[in-house]
Amino acid sequence: MATGTRLLPITAVTSRAMPSKRALIIGISGQDGSLLAELLLSQGYEVVGVVRQPASTRFENLEAIRGRIELQQADVLSEISLVDVLSACQPHEVYNLASPSFVPMSWKQPVLTAEFAAVGVTALLEAIRRVDEGVRFYQASSSEIFGESREVPQTEETPLAPVTPYGVAKAYGHFITRSYRRRYGLFASSGILYNHESPRRPLDFVTRKVSHAAAAISLGLKSEVLLGNLDARRDWGYAGDYVRAMWLVLQQDEADDFVIASGETHSVRELAATAFAHVGLDWEEHVRVDDTLIRGKAELHDIVGDASKARKTLGWSPRVDFEGLVQLLVDADVERLRSRLEPVETLADI
Ligand code: GDP
Repeated sequence: MATGTRLLPITAVTSRAMPSKRALIIGISGQDGSLLAELLLSQGYEVVGVVRQPASTRFENLEAIRGRIELQQADVLSEISLVDVLSACQPHEVYNLASPSFVPMSWKQPVLTAEFAAVGVTALLEAIRRVDEGVRFYQASSSEIFGESREVPQTEETPLAPVTPYGVAKAYGHFITRSYRRRYGLFASSGILYNHESPRRPLDFVTRKVSHAAAAISLGLKSEVLLGNLDARRDWGYAGDYVRAMWLVLQQDEADDFVIASGETHSVRELAATAFAHVGLDWEEHVRVDDTLIRGKAELHDIVGDASKARKTLGWSPRVDFEGLVQLLVDADVERLRSRLEPVETLADI
């Protein structure tokens, strides 16, 4: 199996004593893409990101590193477009993080979801095969592929039973990655990531929705928040820990699949209680249940991962626990809202 130890172009090699590795991140402007880019830059990588919008767009998540990365606009559903990017960039590692990730939206846009999470992966694997079989490829798999799993907790061997269009499309992406590894010997690995959150999570997700509400209510900006099923449970972790796992997955001697999870679940009720307590509030005074937000048959249960293989093989373990995660999210939202309030307060003071 080729291992992707190609030299950089002459100019780059001669200008450095030690040629750095080059990573291509498809979907760099999202939560995971931007956190991964920061991690790789800190490891001395050259980072090239693929985006769908014009590269001149203001990407909020990339503001801190915009001057240190290169952005390429490409159609991630087009093999030709991907061949062009791979040929120009000549990466050693490719991370495929390009996919819509908000699960309920996949019921509204099932075809688009399938295009990005299933067909897009195939286009990328084909492009890699054509340009350089030595490239190491990371596929962002998801716990949604387990769906209504009969096995709890889930491991890399648990049969897939997806129920949402997102989960079904991701299952395709998972299998096609395995299939290319087996058929062509590509270094193609999947990280099966459970819910992972950060201040860069969009507000649609329950973690940010709750942390933002707790912060806003504590600052007197609103008084209540509407949530769905308070008994729903998830295996939540901190996205910063999970992008470290992605990188570790590509540093192994052999390509493989890894469950990345905290191994424990917490309910939405606990999430709310922890977040509101952090700002000195009683969640029960501010949370109301809105039945239209309850997912019913589309809800997943018992989704909890066993990351023993990642712990053993990758030497990975999460550094931020549930409480630390919730506090970090609330603190970030308080800070963000305060910084927006400041000019208003200053004017009011005058
Ligand atoms: P998901 O696991 O990728 O679907 O992540 P979400 O953050 O969207 O949802 C996590 C869990 O929180 C699910 O079980 C939802 O049913 C539950 N939940 C309860 N209330 C809400 C809400 O108001 N918004 C969202 N997004 N989820 C909620």
